[in-house]
Amino acid sequence: MPLLELVNVKKNYMKGETIIPALRGIDLLIEKGDFLSIVGPSGSGKSTLLNVIGCIDTPTQGSVLYDGTDLSELNDKEKTNYRKENISFIFQSFNLIPVLTARENVELPLIIEKKFNKEEIHDKVTNIIEIVGLGDMADRFPRELSGGQEQRVAIARALVKNPLVVLADEPTANLDSEMSEDIISVMRKMNEEIHTTFIFSTHDPLVEKHARRVIILRDGLIASDERKNHGYAD
Ligand code: ADP
Ligand code: MG
Repeated sequence: MPLLELVNVKKNYMKGETIIPALRGIDLLIEKGDFLSIVGPSGSGKSTLLNVIGCIDTPTQGSVLYDGTDLSELNDKEKTNYRKENISFIFQSFNLIPVLTARENVELPLIIEKKFNKEEIHDKVTNIIEIVGLGDMADRFPRELSGGQEQRVAIARALVKNPLVVLADEPTANLDSEMSEDIISVMRKMNEEIHTTFIFSTHDPLVEKHARRVIILRDGLIASDERKNHGYAD
């Protein structure tokens, strides 16, 4: 069974009396472990698509199924719980909490989840911070980190609860090209090593080097859907 299935998803926004069709009929199957990049010009519907996949926004028509569960059939509380457990986000502005250290930022989702004791949280956080390459910076505050390092912390925070899927809307938009490639390759490393599914939008042509699959959106429709082979170990 695919991890995620979108069936004829449409999303309209209203602007005064005018209907803006942001998504015009998206059919999409995403397998577990995929590393999918969504590209397309500004206004093509990338953010809307990610928000619908992340249950931040509800489609006007069509359905979003996770492991065969139709999210529109869940009530708000069930949907929120589903999202908390299974879906993580990475933002282009990093969204770290400035008064918490890198370690404390990464701990936060586990503290909120209330499933693990102190020791378990410490071990999980130490492990993921190591994997994203910030082992010696765990006690620094966001202001003491570069943009690329901050985004690594955000990746660790997204991954620490071991979600089904990580969604990232233009995660490299605020980074220079070297940092961007670095961040995309860290995400790909996570995808290779812990098999987390990533779905992210980008303007960055560098992504072509790392994505397993690239979808091009145009005017709210999928204009192309291509699998890549980069010689990564599979
Ligand atoms: P992208 O992320 O590819 O730039 P978006 O998903 O943000 O595209 O937007 C798709 C279309 O929907 C655009 O025409 C945009 O203006 C419109 N849109 C997005 N969000 C809203 C909103 N909250 N209200 C009205 N129109 C919106
Ligand atoms: Mg956008």
